[in-house]
Formats: sequence, C-alpha cells, structure tokens
Amino acid sequence: MLATTAAALVAALLALAPTPGHAATLIIDGYDFSEYPPADQPPPINATWNAKYDIASINLPNVPVKNPLNSVEEPPCPLTSATCDWTCFNCTRPTDDVACKDHNTWALSYDDGPSEYTVPILEALNKIGAKATFCILGSRALAHPAILRRVYDAGHQICVHTWSHRFLTTQTNEQIVAEFEWTLRIIQQVTGARPLYARPPFGDIDDRVRAVFAKMNLVPLLWNRDTFDWKLASANSGFDAKWVTGNFTNWIATAGSTSTGFMSLEHDLYPQSAGQALPALDLVSKAGYKLQTASQCIGTNPYLSVVSVPIPVVVPVVGSNTSPVGALPTGRSAGNSGNTNAAAARSPVLSVLAGCVLAVLAVHAL
Ligand SMILES: [Zn+2]
Repeated sequence: MLATTAAALVAALLALAPTPGHAATLIIDGYDFSEYPPADQPPPINATWNAKYDIASINLPNVPVKNPLNSVEEPPCPLTSATCDWTCFNCTRPTDDVACKDHNTWALSYDDGPSEYTVPILEALNKIGAKATFCILGSRALAHPAILRRVYDAGHQICVHTWSHRFLTTQTNEQIVAEFEWTLRIIQQVTGARPLYARPPFGDIDDRVRAVFAKMNLVPLLWNRDTFDWKLASANSGFDAKWVTGNFTNWIATAGSTSTGFMSLEHDLYPQSAGQALPALDLVSKAGYKLQTASQCIGTNPYLSVVSVPIPVVVPVVGSNTSPVGALPTGRSAGNSGNTNAAAARSPVLSVLAGCVLAVLAVHAL
C-alpha cells in the first residue's frame, strides 16, 4: 500500500516537472523569473529588440568586433585605433560620465552585485545617510532580487551592468543589446525603474559599443578612481587588501590637485572586496565629502522611467533553496565563464520537487 501510494505521488509530482522545451517555473524571493535565460552565459539575442532599437542602422566598419568573440578575458589591444577606446587608449567621449562635477562630491559605486555581501555595505551607507550607485548584473539579480529591491528602496542608484559580464568590444551589436535588455527587464521587474546609466564590464567601451548604448537610451558610466579591489578575489594576485583603503587615503590627500569630484569603483560580489568597502566608506565620509549617487553628482536623472511595483509576498516552501544562482568570478583576470547552466539555474524547482517527494515518503514511512 505504502509503495503504491508513494509511487503514485512520485508520478503525480513528476508530472508537474517541466517537459522538454518548456522552461520550469523559477520563483525567487516571490518573483517569477521563469522567462530569463541561464545565469552567467551570454543571453539569447532577440530580433524584436534589435528592431525596436534600430540596431541594423549602426554602421561603423572601422570599429570591428574584437576577438575572441564573447571574451571573458581581456582582448589584446591594437597598436592604433580608429575609435575612442577607453580600455586600450584611455579615450573618453563627451557622452561618457567619468566624474562628479563638484570638487567636494564623491560617487561611490559598487559593481557586480547584488550579493549577500551587498547587505553590510547597504546598512553602513544607510546608517550615515549616504547614497551610492550599484551597477547590477542580471545574473546576480536573478539570485538576489530581494537585496536589489532593498538597495533601490533605500534610494541608492541602480545602474545596469550586463547579464554575463563579457568584454563588450568582443560582442556583436545584437549580443550587446541582449546583455543589457535582459538585465534591464529583470531590474524593471524587481524595482519598477529602468536605469539610464550603463556600466560596461571592465570599462571596455569603444565607439561601436557607445553607438549601441545610444540606440538603447543608455549613458556610459565610467569612473575616475579604480580601487582594483577585484584583484582580491584572484588567487596569487599579490594584491594586499590594505591597498584599497590606501588608495582612498591617497586620493583624499591629493584631492587639492583635482578639478572635479570623485567617482570610484569597488565591487560588492566577493567578501574580500566588500570587506574593504566599509573602512573605505569611513575614510571618505570622515573626510567631509558629500556622498551622492552618480546621477545626483552629475545632475541628471538616474532612470528613463519609473513605475511602482509591489514587493511580492513570499510564501516559504519547506526544502526550497531561494538562492540557486551562486556568485561567480567576474574579475578581469579571474574570468567568469562560469559553470552555472540552465539546469543549475532551474535546480531549485527540482529541489522543491525532490523535497516534496522525500517529505511525503517520510510521512508515509512513519
Ligand atoms: Zn563588473
């Protein structure tokens, strides 16, 4: 009897499992993310989006896609360039935002989250009433939407930072659209806001990438102070954690020689880099800087559009795993090809299913 009942239950539950070709339901923190592609992989391109942004009209034959395609490693720089390439030649265009305008303002920015390590940074910022900018990876938003929502609701600026963190100069125009549009969609679903500012991974931008940004109504957000804290997550990088606060100390000490305010780059994906964010915040705060979001210190709007969306009511499910999409390396040298695939991204549903089966079997075994 027991075997028959259990078998029937297993069969019934398995009938709820996704059939080939159909995405499983993926609910994270109450958000239905079933439509999104696997984390940390270049997301599928979409012809409708390409047409909407008129991507086909971009014609820059002198700015080819760099090889290797979709690179997670830094592509080699050419000896000369016909384009304004920031990574290789430190070239910026007037459309790029790299610094706060006023001398006494500082825009702290944190990239590659949200993650669990975002939370202490958020709490420290909120405690002193400071605002900062968080450049969001779609793949991390998929894992931690509730943290993304907390950051947004606290009044910090959300900027978009791609889905899979590739070097954009190694991606086609259509792939760049997909990287940003998937990420914009998940940010909008969670917060209701569509960011205006986009940060290219590794600051890798040239005129072709800028042309795609312009078509999508995105503004390049760069920086004028790099902590290089991402090196802390790389084994044998030789980077001392104290160098992060050492950089901030030096920047503050030499601020008199600068004509603009600061826009600094840190990361909230790894404990090593996020751990340095708190003493760095303390240094900048005590030095008397006005800590603003990037858009505040530039004097623009942070979002193209904003609508109000409710926070979903989360119904706990015994045996579920609400953080299935783990943080993956995204540092420049660490690489982020990742090992999370569609099956892994969908695993919580199967975990819930397996948990239900085991729970039912356990009850019947009693
Ligand atoms: Zn990044």
